Amino acid sequence: MVDRGNCLTCGLPLDICTCKIIEREARRIKVYMTTRKFGKPVTIIEGIDEKSVKSITSNLKRKLACGGSHKEGHIELQGNHVDRAKQILISLGFDRDLIEAN
Ligand SMILES: [Zn+2]
Repeated sequence: MVDRGNCLTCGLPLDICTCKIIEREARRIKVYMTTRKFGKPVTIIEGIDEKSVKSITSNLKRKLACGGSHKEGHIELQGNHVDRAKQILISLGFDRDLIEAN
């Protein structure tokens, strides 16, 4: 997922990008589904670093072709995307072992 040597998360050249370090130090990420009004499913992702949450949210929305929003490191996507969201997070450089998906 790397384009011409620039980080997909922060856009900086990879040799000065600190996203991987930040992510490694980050707490566990939780991905789960819940329901909103009228039983509408939403996928919640918790534990994303605030610095990268905006670009990660737009990445997820584009790849999943769904609506979504973020607030204080907490991403909410419309629909049930737990498995695919986990795969996308891994493709963005998150450690598989730190992602808890139910
Ligand atoms: Zn980066």
